[in-house]
Order: sequence, then structure tokens, then C-alpha cells
Amino acid sequence: MSKKYLYLFSEGNANMRELLGGKGANLAEMTNIGLPVPQGFTITTEACTQYYEDGRQINDAIMAEIMEYVAKMEELNGKKFGDLTNPLLVSVRSGARASMPGMMDTILNLGLNDEVVAAMIAGNPDPAFERFVYDSYRRFIQMFSDVVMEVGKKYFEQLIDKMKEDRGVKQDVELTAADLKELAEQFKAEYKAQIGSDFPSDPKTQLMEAIKAVFRSWDNPRANVYRRDNDIPYSWGTAVNVMPMVFGNLNENSGTGVAFTRDPATGEKKLMGEFLTNAQGEDVVAGVRTPMPISQMEEKFPEAFKQFVDVCGILENHYRDMQDMEFTVENGKLYMLQCRNGKRTAQAALKIACDLVDEGMRTEEEAVAMIDPRNLDTLLHPQFDQKALKAATPMGKGLGASPGAACGKIVFTADDAVAWAERGEKVVLVRLETSPEDITGMKSAQGILTVRGGMTSHAAVVARGMGECCVSGCGDIIMDEENKQFQLGGKTFKEGDFISIDGTTGNIYDGVIPTVDAQIAGEFGRIMAWADKYRKLKVRTNADTPTDAKKARELGAEGIGLCRTEHMFFDPERIAAFREMICSDTVEEREEALDKILPYQQADFKALYEALEGNPVTIRFLDPPLHEFVPTEEPEIEKLAAAKGKTVQEIKDIINGLHEFNPMMGHRGCRLAVTYPEIAAMQTKAVIRAAIEVQKEHPEWKVVPEIMIPLVGDVKELKYVKKTVVATADAEVAASGIDLKYEVGTMIEIPRACLTADEIAANADFFCFGTNDLTQMTFGFSRDDSGKFLNAYYDAKIFENDPFAKLDQEGVGKLMKMAIDLGKPVNPNLHIGICGEHGGDPSSVEFCHKIGLNYVSCSPFRVPVARLAAAQAAIADKK
Ligand code: PEP
Ligand code: MG
Repeated sequence: MSKKYLYLFSEGNANMRELLGGKGANLAEMTNIGLPVPQGFTITTEACTQYYEDGRQINDAIMAEIMEYVAKMEELNGKKFGDLTNPLLVSVRSGARASMPGMMDTILNLGLNDEVVAAMIAGNPDPAFERFVYDSYRRFIQMFSDVVMEVGKKYFEQLIDKMKEDRGVKQDVELTAADLKELAEQFKAEYKAQIGSDFPSDPKTQLMEAIKAVFRSWDNPRANVYRRDNDIPYSWGTAVNVMPMVFGNLNENSGTGVAFTRDPATGEKKLMGEFLTNAQGEDVVAGVRTPMPISQMEEKFPEAFKQFVDVCGILENHYRDMQDMEFTVENGKLYMLQCRNGKRTAQAALKIACDLVDEGMRTEEEAVAMIDPRNLDTLLHPQFDQKALKAATPMGKGLGASPGAACGKIVFTADDAVAWAERGEKVVLVRLETSPEDITGMKSAQGILTVRGGMTSHAAVVARGMGECCVSGCGDIIMDEENKQFQLGGKTFKEGDFISIDGTTGNIYDGVIPTVDAQIAGEFGRIMAWADKYRKLKVRTNADTPTDAKKARELGAEGIGLCRTEHMFFDPERIAAFREMICSDTVEEREEALDKILPYQQADFKALYEALEGNPVTIRFLDPPLHEFVPTEEPEIEKLAAAKGKTVQEIKDIINGLHEFNPMMGHRGCRLAVTYPEIAAMQTKAVIRAAIEVQKEHPEWKVVPEIMIPLVGDVKELKYVKKTVVATADAEVAASGIDLKYEVGTMIEIPRACLTADEIAANADFFCFGTNDLTQMTFGFSRDDSGKFLNAYYDAKIFENDPFAKLDQEGVGKLMKMAIDLGKPVNPNLHIGICGEHGGDPSSVEFCHKIGLNYVSCSPFRVPVARLAAAQAAIADKK
């Protein structure tokens, strides 16, 4: 039998969301449970994918099936397309598997033409009815021209404005039936002028064109962006729902509204919504008239209101979730046009989930599964005031690299950020890109905006760690650092000008948008406790400072999965010694400089162990190329020259000698420890001595430091570095008089390490996947520059997501799986985690659960996201 592409509402049900889309499945379900739904049909999402496969054509078989279902719909409703006694008018609406509000197209009042309009008017002598018919007609021509034929709204709006001016009126509603009739004629003429042919009068032609337009809208730019932001695959396609019109704008005994069964902002259990008499759905949304609160509907339509309240109860009990509904009252009779699980704020989501458990409607596991982990971000960071945000238009867009909202005066250097913040100014730091030297400035700013860099760039990683808003990689900015200004969206922004950035969406706004602080309600703790009960994955954090570590602990981290030790070197006192180390000629000189750093590192590690209270701490040895640490400014170079007893030129020669063509593939990671084992020795001493101190002071804790060697690609590299680590550590432990255990493991971030993981596992206590570098090296994409071309990849449908943000499961994930499969049999005690940025991404966390990792490690503010995502993965697994 050939594939079935169409379903009457009476043929589907709520479980068919993949095929019928959310809207179609729910229309079917409402039909099944006996609610008043105008009876139409749904064209499946498979028809949409077929449309694209057929080169954006509806093939003959599907076309024939649509005609068959049109006949069925006509029969069911006792009305016919184009009929002069009982004309059928329909709405055509998109409806994907996941709701994408406002992203795709809708056409209302389809089926009208000159003859139908004339016949309708002839059948009803009420002058108000004549006005209604012409109003519907001109709306239809306008919508069809705009949405289906892409003529552009503005031509029609200009005609309406002109008509109002000619008639001396201000509001659309003041136009008479005759005015609207004339407007409909003008619209058709405009259509012909723009398109070159007459407005289609055959309702079936209108319908086919409208269906194609909805399919086409799946691929419109705003839908593509929305999908990427919300993890919705392109391959899903959209369904199309064709439904007989009911008219809320028929007369004063009619109306239309939208309502929620609970407050979508707070979650409070009360009917919320808005209602307009004598109006069509779009009027409520468009804000042309001010709707009345839903409670007032009771006075106007007591019968329909009572029925609606009953329907709300039925739907909530049926779906066991808050419902968002659209409905219409036509001549006093209620019709349900749509229902779905309502979109809600993060705070409302938590409250509703907890209330549903308390009301006995949901289990704890179901409540955990109901929360979108990505929304938790909004609970932990400042956000823009929603009203102000709605009124604002973005000037540009970068990557939403670290969530939250920031508003402040523009500064261009880290030093200015510090200075301005010290005098009480709120600033946003705008840089081409950031480097480790900028850290204090980044901390002082409300947010960070960069021109270059992707989701794992320095700015993105550091900002996420600090919980600070960051928009990275806005390539549209034309930067003029020298004159402290930049251009974006045709405007020049100067130092001191206000700017607002949204680290969740990546949007950049001109001027001030007020922010509101994060609020964590009591339900947050309840949901998190349930999540912890069900998850299998442990959640650690990437933290380099005791402050970050404490924050992460508060947010539920169970250990440190990655401490990037290099971040500790940028303190002014330490950087001098570190630079002396870099510019040393002999091992002795280097050791002398390292000896100066040792006490600092030891104190840092001690504070980290203390913050973690006996929970695991993984310390990664020095990783970045050395050129990141050398001075760039003349006075600093002179200072270094004086300290080393060298000439300025000699120092400059050393600095130049550190230049590399591909620094990310250069002298970094374990390669530094191979060249300079004394660095690894110093870091080992600091790790072990600090652990011994803390273990002695806190015998109740079990301190087991985990030393992690980065960027290993060959087991011999690991063995070589490990020799220094073990010899140094064992000597320290022996001298301490206590039996301190420690582990030595490696990051798995080079494809060769995955391919030879069996050899490596025999020499490692643990693996930790560095998926930032592993993604970089598997794709061969620079993690700092790929933002420049990824947009073209999205447009060309080569990629749907940034692989640095969402793990590429087929490629990078396969390498991870291979490493586990090779490593575990050789070393069954091997514990395995991930500490690349993917450790805080929900779909990547789910993958980590599936391939059997022991833990994920992510920046502090992502810890709750990871806890929830891990629980959801475990709960889904049980099913
Ligand atoms: C990684 O490469 O995934 C990683 C965690 O290390 P870094 O980002 O410091 O290179
Ligand atoms: Mg790395």
C-alpha cells in the first residue's frame, strides 16, 4: 500500500506528533475526546519532507490525496469550496513536531473569491455582515499575497493608510463595508501589478499554493535560526493543518481568545488569558485592539465561558500539563482551534512540575523530564526586562556564548574595564578577541562582546566559567580599536556609549535595556533533588579558582573535573616569574624561576582541595603555548629584560622565537612537559604538597589528587611525562609520612589517542575527553576561527549546529566510544569523564550517559543543567 500522507482529525491521536506535528496531533486528540473542533485534516510531516525531496514540488500522488481529503472535509461539514449557498472557508496552518511560535506561516479565510463574497452577502441582509465579509476578503488577499506569493505587506498597508486618510479616519474599524470592498479591489490590482497575473479565484488553487507556502516556510531564515537555537532537526519537517473557519468576527455574539490553564510567567494555578469580541485570532495577537481579561468573557458569553472552563479542566487532566489554547465563539457557540503544552518561563516550569507532583498528576520522574534544561540558565543569570526587550530591535547578532544579559558603557581594553568599574560604572568589554591577559577586565565588566572566536574561544570559556554574559564572534562588527570605536548595523559606537547584549540569543542592542536579577525559587531545589535521585552520571565542574569551585559546589558539583592551571599564572606577581622561566637559558635558571611560582600554585591547590572537602579534584598540567604568556608592551619587555639580565633585543628575539604558524597544534600540552620536565616536576610538587597539607589538617576527608596530562597522542608521551610525575610525587609522599594516594590520567583530545586508547589505558588511571580540542582536530576546524564560516555551513545545510557547542555524535562521538571500548577491557578501573564545553550541553550529556561515562564536567553555572540532563537521560533509558 502506498504511504498515507493525510489524516482527518478523527483519524489521528496525540501520540502521532512525529507524523502530524504537535498542532495536528492535538486537534486529533481533542476530536477523540469529544471537544468541539471544526473538522478538517492534517497533511503529514512526511509530505513536507517528500516536498523537499521532490525539488520543492507537491507530487501527483500527494496532490490527489489532498483533493480526496478536501472532498471528505466538504462532506463532513456540509459545505463546499466555491459553493454559492454553503461556501467552505478554511485556515491553513503550519504545525511542526515541536512548537515554533511565529516562525512559520498561517493563512486564514481561504476560499473567498468575488462570487463567493457576493453570494454570502446576498444571503444575509445585515449591513454588518456585509462589512464582515469584505473585511475577511481584504484580509485574505493581503495574507495570501504576503505569505504565499511573498509580495510584501507594505504595499497593502500603504493602501489601507491611504484609504483611511482619504476617508478622514484613524482606525481600520472605522472603514465601512464600501471602503473595504474598494480596498479588496485595490489589493487585487496591486497583486496583479506585483505578480503579473490575476489573483487566483479558484479555492483549490488557493489551497495548493497555501500548502506549498507552509512547506516552504519550514526553510525560511527565521525558522532555521529558531531550530538551531532550540535543537530542532531540519529533517523533521512541518505538517499542515487545514481547518474550516469559524468566525469570531461574525458579529457581537462572537469572539476569539487565547488562554493558559496556569500562569505561564509564575506557574500559579489560575486561568489566564485574553478575549476579544467580534474579532479574529490575529487581532488578539496583533494588539490592534486591547483585549479583555478572560474572566470578563463570563459576562459576555456565560454559556460558552462555562463550557470553556470545563474544557480547560478536561485538557489539563488529559495532558497532565499546563495547556495553551486558542478558541473562538461563533454566534455563542464555542470552538477549540488549538491546544498544546504551554510555553512557560523557567520559574513557572519548576513550579508547575512540582505542583503537578503534589496534585498527584505526575511522578517525580515525569516532573524531572518536563523541564527543559536549557531554560535553567535563565534562573541563574540576570535577564533583560521582558517588556523592554520586546520593544527593542537587535543591531546585530553573534554567538550566544555565555548566558545572561548585560547592559553597560562600551570600553575597549581590559584596563579600562577595571578602571571604569572601580569608579562605579557598568561596562561591557568589546574586544576583537580576548586573551588570558584580559581576565581581570573581563571580571570587572557586566558582559563581554567579541568580534572573533567561537563557542570554545577564550572569551566564551572564561565567561562561562565566571557566569558572565558573553556574545562572541560577531563578525559584522567593524572594529577601530585605535580610535576606540566600532561600527555595527550602520551605526558608530564610541567608548562610553551604552550597549546591551544577550548571552543566550547572541543579540546585540543599541542603548540601555534594563536587566533584572536572577531569582531561584524553592522549587528549583526540589527538582534538582529529584534529578540527583535518578541520574547515573556524576557532575563535576571546570573551575580554576576557589571562588568558582565554591559556586559550583553550591550549584551541586561533585568534584572538579578540570582545573586549568595556566589561568593561575596571570596574577601580576606570578606572571613575572613565569616569564622569567620562559626566558631562561638553562634548566637551573628555569628551576629557579619555577621555585618562585611553586608556593603560589601550592596555595591555590590547597584552597581548591579545601573548597571541595574531600571530593575529587582533577588538576591539568600546563597546556597553552608559551607565547600566550610573554609581554607585548615595551615597558613590560624592559622589566623582563632587567630581571633576566638580558638586553631588550634578546628578550624580543626569544619572544619572536616562540611564534608558531599553528599554535593550537604547536608547542603546547604534554609537549611542554617533554621539553621542560621541570615544569611538570614543579606542578607535581605543588599538587602533592598541597594535598598532604590538607589531608593532615582534615583526616576526615580522603584527598586523592588526580593529575591530568593534556594533549597526549602517543602512549610514549604519557609514559615519559608520567616518569617525572611519579618520581616527584612518590618522593614527596615518602617524605610526608602519610599514605597519600594520587592518580595520573590523561586528557583524550587528539584523535590518535582514541585510536590507541588500549595502549594509553594501560598507563592511565583515568581518561577525560577534551572535546574542544578533539572536535577541533577531528574536523580540522580551528576552534577560534570556525565561527567565520559556520554560518555558511548552516545556510548550506551542511551543519545544523555548532560542533563546538553540541557534540558531533557521529564523528567525535564515535572516537570517544572507540576510546572507551579499547580502554576499559585493558584497565577495568579506568574512570572516564568529559571536560570539554560539551559537558554542559544537554544533548551531549545524554550521549555521555549512553556511552557509559562516569562523569561530565562543565562550567559552574552549567552544573544544574548537566544534573538535570543527566537525570533525563537516565529516566529516558529506563523507559
Ligand atoms: C578541551 O580541549 O576540550 C579542554 C577541555 O581543554 P582546553 O579547552 O583547555 O583546551
Ligand atoms: Mg584541550
